[in-house]
This record gives sequence, structure tokens and C-alpha cells, in this order.
Amino acid sequence: MPENTTLAQAALLAVAEASLAVRAIQDRMSQADRRGMTKDDESPVTVGDYAAQALVARSLTAQLGPITLVGEESAEHLRRPEHAAHVAQAVEAVRHAWPEADADSLLRSIETGMGEPRDQGFWTLDPIDGTKGFLRGEQFCVCLAYIERGRPAVGVLGCPRLPADPAAPIRGDERTGSLYLAVRDGGAWEISGLDPNGPRRRLPRRDTEVVRSVRTTRSVERAHGDHSRAARVLAALGPEGPPVMIDSQCKYAVVARGQADTYLRFPSRPGYHERIWDHAPGALLVSEAGCAVSDARGVPLDFGAGRGLDRNWGIVAAPPELHRRTLRQIELLGT
Ligand code: AMP
Ligand code: MG
Repeated sequence: MPENTTLAQAALLAVAEASLAVRAIQDRMSQADRRGMTKDDESPVTVGDYAAQALVARSLTAQLGPITLVGEESAEHLRRPEHAAHVAQAVEAVRHAWPEADADSLLRSIETGMGEPRDQGFWTLDPIDGTKGFLRGEQFCVCLAYIERGRPAVGVLGCPRLPADPAAPIRGDERTGSLYLAVRDGGAWEISGLDPNGPRRRLPRRDTEVVRSVRTTRSVERAHGDHSRAARVLAALGPEGPPVMIDSQCKYAVVARGQADTYLRFPSRPGYHERIWDHAPGALLVSEAGCAVSDARGVPLDFGAGRGLDRNWGIVAAPPELHRRTLRQIELLGT
């Protein structure tokens, strides 16, 4: 594989292209589209998820040659005859970036993203993280990371509805959006807008910060985590500042850029393991911004255990001093 800067540039181009396409879909979404489709596991999926996976797979392959890509989506569902209209919509949605796309090439590109994790290095993609936010007309994120020996080496977040200005309100009608790039040992970067060649701002490191009043990030979807456990831990940490309620890995972006102090996530039910594509780029981003990241027992996140973080329990990301205090409180509060 080429060096990380080459991978980073390829990832940034791929995510920017998909983010623009998906934002256009969200802009045009009708009330009927807002219901999305339902996968066999009952989770929602949209034409946007498929279009984004197809675009990222195609862009990475065009730039880097054959790749291993572990994407969230499978084309199996979309290949069923009842979804022919959805395939046509996805082809339409990718056309701007990929003029020669047709049903067959689109489905094959989605299938490129049906790889399996491997030791030698692989990409992982959540084409739309926060699908429920996307359907509500709110926040979502296109998330891509390159994993090497169980650790993310490159991560990109495309946040089409997240204003780069942390003072701006977080709403679904944002027009500019932002991109985040992290390279292991190479720093965390923010681009205002979705132009991969736009000016980059290096995010200052938060390693020496002492947080007195903790601003947390919170999922909009309460079913995605054990919120009462998170609330108990936060209460034990002392004064709380205003939380940031936001779908998707945009949570990691707001922690990395200093708008919030912690991302605390506990499993919604026993046996639930977080998916690698829901955390890989975000975890690298906060880590390169000087925060500490681990599971809720202090164990490093292991992205080499398959499609899930099967050797971990929950997530804690925060500046190191707050991270240490948080782990201590989790231990004291017990299960
Ligand atoms: P968020 O917007 O942070 O609440 O998270 C969105 C992600 O939550 C989706 O990409 C899903 O993969 C994930 N998710 C779905 N169901 C659950 C669950 N029961 N527990 C934890 N995460 C979940
Ligand atoms: Mg997701």
C-alpha cells in the first residue's frame, strides 16, 4: 500500500465526492423518501447510503487500484426486483460524479464494499453514519478509515451539515459543511466546506487541557446507548456545561475541535458491540487532536477483531485528564 499521505488524499477526495452527492439527495428528499427502506435487521437504509458506498468504492479503486473495503452496506437487498426503482434513483444520484454509471456498475461498486477485515490493512466505510439523522433532515456523516494491524492509520469524516464555525447553530439546513482528516502521528485537520483541496486548518491539541465544566456529546437517538449510565458518570464528574446533541461521528468532530469535551457511549444492551465503521475515523481524529480514546474500561479500541469492536465495551473519548477521571468514575459507579 502507498504511504499514509497518499491514502489520506485518496480518502479525502472519495469522501468529499460522496458527501456532496448525499447532501444533494437530502436536499431533494420527499416525505415518502424520509421513511427510507428497512434492512433485514430492521435498521434503516436509504438510496443515499447505497449511492455513497458506490461512489467511495469507485473513487478509491480509481485512485489506488484494487482495495479491500469493509462497508456497512450490502448490495444483496438492493438486487431484489422490488428495489429496481431504488437502484435507478441511486444511479441518478451518483451521475454528477460518475456520468457513465448504470445499474450494473453501481451494484458492482457497492459490492466492492463487501470485503472482510484482514490483517494486511483494509478500508472501512459507513457511507451514511446517522441514517436516522439524515432521514430527519439533520446531521449525518460520511465516514472512512484505513485500518492497519487493528489501528486506524487514516480517517476522514465528511460532515455536510456541520458548520465549521463552532459558534454557528447546529441545524440541518447548513449549506457549507466541513471535512475532517486525521493521519496517525500526522495531526488532525479541518476544512470548511466540502472541497478536498480547500484550505486546511490544523486542530490544536487538547492534551494539556483541564476541563472544569464538562460539555458532553449526546446521540439524538436514545436507543443507541445507555443514556442513564452516561448521565450518572457525568453527574459524578462535577459541573456540566451545555451538551451537544448530534447524530453520527460528527460527535468526534465537535470534541476534536473543542466544542465539546467528551464522547461517552455505553452499550444499549448486553452483548452489543460497536461497529468498526461507526468509530474508526472519529477515534483517530480525536486522538490526533490530543484526546485520549479507549473503551469504557480503559482498554484500547481494537479495530482488528472483525466487523465489530468485539473485544471492547463502550467508548470514552476526552482530553487525557478528563479521560482518566471518567474511567475512575465508571469504575467507582460499577455496573
Ligand atoms: P448515533 O448517531 O451516534 O446515535 O449513532 C448512529 C449509529 O448507531 C449507527 O450508525 C448505528 O450503527 C449505531 N447503532 C444502531 N443501533 C444501535 C444500538 N442499539 N446501540 C448502539 N449503536 C447503535
Ligand atoms: Mg453508522
